[in-house]
Amino acid sequence: MSRVLVLHYHEIWLKGGNKRYFTSRLMAAIKAAVAGLPIESLVQASERLILTPREPASLQAMAERIEKVFGLAYFASAESVPAEQGEVVRAACALMRAKKPASFAVRAKIAQPLFGMSSMELEREAGREILAALRAEDPNARVNLTKPEATCWIEVIPNRALVYTDRSEGAGGLPAATGGRLVVLLSGGFDSAVAAYKMMRRGVHAAFVHFYAAPSPASGSSLPIAEQIVRVLTPYQFTSRLYRVPFDAIQREIVARTPDRLRILLYRRMMARIATEIARAERALGLVTGDSVSQVASQTLHNLRALDQGLTLPVYRPLAGDDKEEIMRWARRIGTYAISCEPFEDCCPRFMPRSPAIFAKADEVERAETALDIESLVRNGLEGVRVTAFKYSEGVVTLSDAEPQRLKRRFTH
Ligand code: ATP
Ligand code: MG
Repeated sequence: MSRVLVLHYHEIWLKGGNKRYFTSRLMAAIKAAVAGLPIESLVQASERLILTPREPASLQAMAERIEKVFGLAYFASAESVPAEQGEVVRAACALMRAKKPASFAVRAKIAQPLFGMSSMELEREAGREILAALRAEDPNARVNLTKPEATCWIEVIPNRALVYTDRSEGAGGLPAATGGRLVVLLSGGFDSAVAAYKMMRRGVHAAFVHFYAAPSPASGSSLPIAEQIVRVLTPYQFTSRLYRVPFDAIQREIVARTPDRLRILLYRRMMARIATEIARAERALGLVTGDSVSQVASQTLHNLRALDQGLTLPVYRPLAGDDKEEIMRWARRIGTYAISCEPFEDCCPRFMPRSPAIFAKADEVERAETALDIESLVRNGLEGVRVTAFKYSEGVVTLSDAEPQRLKRRFTH
């Protein structure tokens, strides 16, 4: 008998011809996640993965790392026993006796019909024995198939059976870096951090861009906020790059030359243009923002339409249909909530308009932009770019300065 982690992946992506690709990426992600912990083996066995530690004491640490692996539906710490009926029932009774539930159910899955039993027969057989074992201490113990206080799961796979009584929800989604790259416009606020997470969960590898202004004495700089958010998100995708773009000069130009009510849209269009250049350098296929329809003035359907006019890359808005409550729930779950609560200024409040346009038209925005030298503003922004590389390994995220190599090459030509 030994303790293992049994990992179940979502079955949806197993239907297509890409099954082998996804499972091999998932295995690679799991290995990277548990790197540095004493692992005996990671093997595939009938539509699930089995991770065996060299020392049972490291199971807890392994489980904590596995929580952040995209592509897993659920996982459990299980007893691995020889696939013999007596052994399975004995392990099931021992686990359930330790739990002492007032009511219970047994759920069996038989991937390898070894006992010549159907899963229902195995459930009944194990259930009978468990009931007898529990009743030795509590005569009122009973079976309850609809709302059991505890469940005993039994999975029979080639050469062995896995028995467990607790399982944890996996991170869901698709394995890391199976879906191409996107550039996330990360403000430091709640929404864009959650937007990044949602796209990463679809297998997207995110690069991050943050636009900052000099902080006022009243509140702190947004730079450490953006950095902390990337630090929290990196374990889900193992590596990240954060591009920091100075935005003061661009904002000042927009304020000097364009109508007050269009300012926010014009700032955001400049952000999108600069992010598009970064996306080219990153070989990314689109942008991501944290817009949620009609949450603030700049996010009405009219304004979102005006924002995207003329852009050469698609903009993904995974929060478009979410409300603030749902977004906050995600932020708490992924651990960015407390970071985004810090007071910070990403763009100077002095430059905020008194009454921003709610229904801007794409052509009026474009007309306003004729007063700006867009190309040189984009170039100015890019020249000030600094890049930080994040790496997650052995449970720790480390940061280092990186060169915006491909970006430099692009605008020096
Ligand atoms: P968030 O909570 O992400 O800040 P928000 O509800 O405050 O979003 P806005 O401030 O209008 O809304 O920003 C909308 C989106 O524009 C953000 O989700 C983000 O993708 C992008 N964005 C805004 N400001 C910045 C910034 N300083 N740097 C990078 N991206 C930004
Ligand atoms: Mg914001």
